[in-house]
Amino acid sequence: MNGKAALINASRCIGHGACAAACPVGAITLVFGTETRGVNIPYITPNFETNVKGIFIVGELGGMGLIRNAVTQGREAVEYISCFIKENEVVNKDIYDTIIVGAGPSGISASLAALKYKFKFLTIEQGDIGGTILQYPRHKIVMTSTMELPLYGKVKVKETTKESLLDLFMEVIKKTGLKININEKMLELKQENGNFRVITTKGEYLSRTVVLAIGRRGTPRKLGALGENLPKVTYRLLEPEQHRNQNLLVVGGGDSAVETAMALANQPGNNVILSYRGESFSRIKPMNKQRLDEAVSKKLIKVIFNSNLKEIREKDVKITVGEEIKVFPNDYIYIFAGGELPNEFLTKIGIQIEKKFGKA
Ligand SMILES: Cc1cc2nc3c(=O)[nH]c(=O)nc-3n(C[C@H](O)[C@H](O)[C@H](O)COP(=O)(O)OP(=O)(O)OC[C@H]3O[C@@H](n4cnc5c(N)ncnc54)[C@H](O)[C@@H]3O)c2cc1C
Repeated sequence: MNGKAALINASRCIGHGACAAACPVGAITLVFGTETRGVNIPYITPNFETNVKGIFIVGELGGMGLIRNAVTQGREAVEYISCFIKENEVVNKDIYDTIIVGAGPSGISASLAALKYKFKFLTIEQGDIGGTILQYPRHKIVMTSTMELPLYGKVKVKETTKESLLDLFMEVIKKTGLKININEKMLELKQENGNFRVITTKGEYLSRTVVLAIGRRGTPRKLGALGENLPKVTYRLLEPEQHRNQNLLVVGGGDSAVETAMALANQPGNNVILSYRGESFSRIKPMNKQRLDEAVSKKLIKVIFNSNLKEIREKDVKITVGEEIKVFPNDYIYIFAGGELPNEFLTKIGIQIEKKFGKA
């Protein structure tokens, strides 16, 4: 348009960035956020290194969601580290080549790559193996595309379930003998004489490099609505089956919100409202769009665009729709407004954070 590239259909974008890599004249630039809604992104080079040399960021923490991207980034970051780590062989056996923090898709992939390159490495995970996938609702359909796991090869799945994907990760971990320290949380990260000291709930370690694969889901973004601290407000759905014959509100405009609304609408007797502040679902996967349209036409879900949650009360909610304030009966609320960047932690170690506004 006027000699400039224009986005035609955002919902067709699956965020893998292959278009930019394939464009022969470099005419495609990938952007984060929208022009109006900025998104905080840590500064990272194309090799996933931050401005603090030796600290790498992969997966959702770096701003790009989706399992396949996380797996690719984890693998590529460690491949890059392998280029220089072996050249300057470590003399001190007490210092790790790398410590990987987080065992979601990006951390698992980074760890498998570290195993492949025979690094002296450690992976720590504050919870259990699987990351955000563990937080998906039971039997959730997971949509992804072919991805390559180090030491395993290509995983050719397009549509699977939460449980099958976790089984696959566990099978790979078992087959390769990958060791992950679960229930060990990183508390602090400090620079020390050219290395990094990682302080966790179980000990302290020194490492030449650190790969942060900690995602963003640890701190769900809040809306700031009145009454948001009521116990009926939740930021993730694990068991849709626990809701029957209830008035439920889901807030958000991404895949997580849409999938949650559909999972709740599939339970008997529920009355589900999906509230989104935008005027259309421009970011969701085409399959979700199709399923949502079907659910709306069957009157299983009521979608309210251009709406903002204003106040949450014991038995109802107030939602601003355009100029009007509407009241709906309500038993539970699920909010999916993304995750906050752990700004304080990142800035404390000196990692720069930029606010991006959907511009190249
Ligand atoms: C409801 C929902 C549905 C989704 N559906 C899909 C889908 O169908 N397809 C798709 O491709 N993507 C989907 N996604 C997105 C996808 O799950 C994420 O993009 C992906 O999991 C990101 O991987 P990650 O490794 O970067 O981070 P995560 O998976 O978030 O893993 C980060 C890990 O780091 C650990 N960690 C954090 N802090 C510390 C610490 N201090 N010390 C130690 N460990 C720490 C966490 O416990 C966690 O295990 C969905 C997301 C949600 C919320």
